[in-house]
Amino acid sequence: MTEFSLASYANKPLAECTELELFNALLSLTKDAAAEKGYNQGKKRLYYISAEFLIGKLLSNNLINLGLYDQVRAELAEAGRDLAELEEFENEPSLGNGGLGRLAACFLDSCATLGLPASGVGLAYHCGLFRQSFDKNKQYESPDYWLRWGQESWMRRTPKHYTVNFGNLSVTSTMYQIDVTGYHSQCDTLNLFDVDTVDERVIKNRINFDKSQVAKNLTLFLYPDDSDEAGRILRVYQEYFMVSNAAQLMLDECVERGSNLHDLADYAAVQINDTHPTMVIPELIRLLGERGIGFDEAVQIVRDTCAYTNHTILAEALECWPLSFIERVAPQLVPIIQQLDAFVRGQYEDDFVQVIDQWQNVHMANIDIHFSHSVNGVAALHTKILEDSELAPFYKIYPEKFNNKTNGITFRRWMVECNPGLNKLVSGKIGEGWKTDAEQLEQLLPLADDPAFLAQLDQVKRTNKQTFAAWLAAHQGTVVDPDSVFDVQSKRLHEYKRQQLNLLWAIRKYQRLQMLEADELPKHKVTVIFGAKAAPAYTIAKDIIHAIICLGKVIEADPVASKYLQVVMIENYNVTAAQHLIPAADISEQISLASKEASGTSNMKFMLNGAITLGTMDGANVEIAELVGEDNIYTFGDSSDEVIARYKRGDYNPRSYYEKDEELAAAVDFLTSDAMLAQGDATNLNRLHDELLNKDWFMTFPDFADYCATKAQVLKDYEDREAWQRKALVNISKAGYFSSDRTIAQYEKDIWHLR
Ligand SMILES: *Cc1c(COP(=O)(O)O)cnc(C)c1O
Repeated sequence: MTEFSLASYANKPLAECTELELFNALLSLTKDAAAEKGYNQGKKRLYYISAEFLIGKLLSNNLINLGLYDQVRAELAEAGRDLAELEEFENEPSLGNGGLGRLAACFLDSCATLGLPASGVGLAYHCGLFRQSFDKNKQYESPDYWLRWGQESWMRRTPKHYTVNFGNLSVTSTMYQIDVTGYHSQCDTLNLFDVDTVDERVIKNRINFDKSQVAKNLTLFLYPDDSDEAGRILRVYQEYFMVSNAAQLMLDECVERGSNLHDLADYAAVQINDTHPTMVIPELIRLLGERGIGFDEAVQIVRDTCAYTNHTILAEALECWPLSFIERVAPQLVPIIQQLDAFVRGQYEDDFVQVIDQWQNVHMANIDIHFSHSVNGVAALHTKILEDSELAPFYKIYPEKFNNKTNGITFRRWMVECNPGLNKLVSGKIGEGWKTDAEQLEQLLPLADDPAFLAQLDQVKRTNKQTFAAWLAAHQGTVVDPDSVFDVQSKRLHEYKRQQLNLLWAIRKYQRLQMLEADELPKHKVTVIFGAKAAPAYTIAKDIIHAIICLGKVIEADPVASKYLQVVMIENYNVTAAQHLIPAADISEQISLASKEASGTSNMKFMLNGAITLGTMDGANVEIAELVGEDNIYTFGDSSDEVIARYKRGDYNPRSYYEKDEELAAAVDFLTSDAMLAQGDATNLNRLHDELLNKDWFMTFPDFADYCATKAQVLKDYEDREAWQRKALVNISKAGYFSSDRTIAQYEKDIWHLR
């Protein structure tokens, strides 16, 4: 094996290099080291198609995976340079919104590590998701130019080009590749396509751009604003561009590996990550047809090749495109989709399962379910809800297709990289084996009765809180107290995730603090930390952000309350922020309305890093609760069955709760109090107040009292530090199940059969 020395990649002494020069040297070194490891190969290959790959920064991740981290850090230190400085210098590729994109990234890491030949396939967005800043206590969006085009980056231009024909124009693409390094293993690749005619100059102010110029704007942004028709059509253009490239790449590569296309399913497994890549099904049928394969056989080949992952039961998120959109974007697919529709119609009468409905809308998930061989949910409860209610008519037709694959996370990024203190403590006790065999973390369990070890765990958490506080102060000038309880809710902003419930709790806490006598005041201050971006067109979500920031200011200005309570909103929450924040968390808020969160993955990250979950029995929280036992998790609220029944009855009336519960009413009304209005905007605060009082579609009020009571218990239990650390230890020990290595091994065994 080659000795990789950073000095040999720089053309002057390391001490004299600019950050850019050092970063470029590190890029070259890492790429060479990855190439030397080689790539996972085999007859059959996975094509994981996804509109999002939220990969996070890659420098440290790659150095760790390649086994070069300590050596490179030492070499830098010797020259008086700090690896942390270069970690800061690197831009985060913001190629995803949240959990779904982060899952895709964790899956590629695990595929590479397990030696599975796999390619991620997606788009090379120039700006990805917007960058969030706060101005006048509101979210402000600007383009995030994560790539300095023309400069060195993780993306490698390849000579692969394809032509993609849209109804009214034809474009060519270029494929870029990013190495996916596995942990001490061979690599896989992430293939990202860009349109050759892309032109950043069509971006106007902020994230607005000329939506009509498809050839120029196609790969500029992840999910352009879909609040108007032009934005919605653009999304269909993006999706077709992505899958047409994916299908052409895959057929080419399979033929190169020896496939005669009739046997495609022996050469390729396609995983359709949510409905965005659905058009790969008709596109593959079309391309197989061009290559001489009849329709019926093509349908069978595609079904044997493709598998679909469902990520949500929120009705508004299940994509449904007017056929007229597809007619404009990819007219060549329309006759195929109509044939698929006719095929389904010939067999089943139920309107629910049809491909094209009576209004000429195409139901993308329905194409996926009929024409792939596997349909999986992402947590046990989620899959059960799919089978029993959301997709019940399909489950009746195809019980054998349905299966569960509970999500996971890669422990390399979410502990080894982001929590070096805990990594060292754990590895010092049980060795390094858990990094690729996560169940070994259970060997920590006996230490639950070892006060010395629990004290060390406490010390690691305390250090992480200090490190996070320093990062936050440097990052956005916000000062937090590491001696306070870090109570964290970080995830996309969505009403179903119920940041508003946490907000109402904080208001109530503030109101109580104002009434307490000095001898009743709490022992530890609570710092409620939110991190969340709201979709640019999601009005109420942005109102919630506004209210959170305003509340933070109200409390800050109160000389007494601010000693016991602080509310903080992290600016531009992304993977980098998550890696700083999660190791510092004491409490993990997972408070979605039961039945609405398919799985969640931040719940797993927090657990692995020793935070205690306060959550509803939703998504993978259910499995966390089963694993750690009721002493080591705090659950509250209505069950998914109760929630589903209440929706069915349609009799939920938030006002009835408001009228019965004085504390709830006072908290809700505080949103439009003089104190809040002095900080914020009446339009936004009134709208949020009215929305909660009149609609509260995600049923915050019924869970409010139980949430407050449970959280009071959590904070009380926090005071017994040893008992708390024992809970943390049990959580860490039992987190092994949530390694994405386990998830990927299950996909391989049950769905892909790559080996
Ligand atoms: C893990 C992760 C998520 C997903 O969080 P959930 O709580 O599962 O929704 C979102 N954003 C980032 C940056 C993450 O790392």
